Amino acid sequence: MRCSKKGCNNPSIIYQRYSGLHLCKVHLVEDVERKVKKEMRKRVMVEKGDKIAVALSGGKDSSALLYILKKVFHERNDLEFFAISVDEGISLNGYRAMTLRNAETIIDRLGVDIFRFSFLHKFGFTVDEIVSKNFKQAPCTFCGVLRRQLIAEKAMELGATKVATAHNLDDEVQTILINYIRGDIERLGRLDMRHRRKEFVPRIKPLRTVPEEEVALYARIAGISVITDDCPYVTRSFRFTVKRMLNEFESKHPGTRYSLMRGYERVSEFLPARLPGRKLL
Ligand code: SF4
Repeated sequence: MRCSKKGCNNPSIIYQRYSGLHLCKVHLVEDVERKVKKEMRKRVMVEKGDKIAVALSGGKDSSALLYILKKVFHERNDLEFFAISVDEGISLNGYRAMTLRNAETIIDRLGVDIFRFSFLHKFGFTVDEIVSKNFKQAPCTFCGVLRRQLIAEKAMELGATKVATAHNLDDEVQTILINYIRGDIERLGRLDMRHRRKEFVPRIKPLRTVPEEEVALYARIAGISVITDDCPYVTRSFRFTVKRMLNEFESKHPGTRYSLMRGYERVSEFLPARLPGRKLL
């Protein structure tokens, strides 16, 4: 198959079923960067003089995010980027050590400073230890909250004005669906950037409209080493069930992810940042 873009005869590397387009390497890169720029402009994610902390696990998404930010803003001398990495203590299959090595490679290549923190040092335990306690909840329940908290705290201490996270379209839509399924209107409202609490460094998600498979391809084209192994605990999470369900929907009904995202954006205008009489967690 050839690229569908006018005047392009390059071989296609992806078929976007939701748009009906075949794209070659060049046009896939262009398309991903266009989506990122559009979303960043729409939500005013970057302002003059910003010091942006990029949450870098060393996985494909966060490595691609750092790469794309450095590329898109290479002429903006007023902006500063640095990385924050968190070692949650996941030693099974050498998982976290492997992704953190990847993080080192990408920061060396891009010439970015990195600040490393660990659960063990900060909280006195690792995710492996949490798992060994056999709690009813999936380890992700603790891991996700503690990592967010640690990154937010350290970003503030390091003087960041924004924290950039690598949530892609799939992640965003999974979160929306999880909150719908749980009936958690407050969390649904807080997903919207406008409803963030003022005391925290604002979080931005430049990849939130890019499908996961396109981020992975973009990373490969950029020469980023892509680790295909997932966290060994991911299958224990509710998110994993939702992800499988969404993938099935997307494959039978292309465009499902975008329509869920669009639906959420319309609904979010009416969602409160906080329900009366409730304290935010
Ligand atoms: Fe943590 Fe769960 Fe993510 Fe693994 S899948 S890194 S346990 S949140």
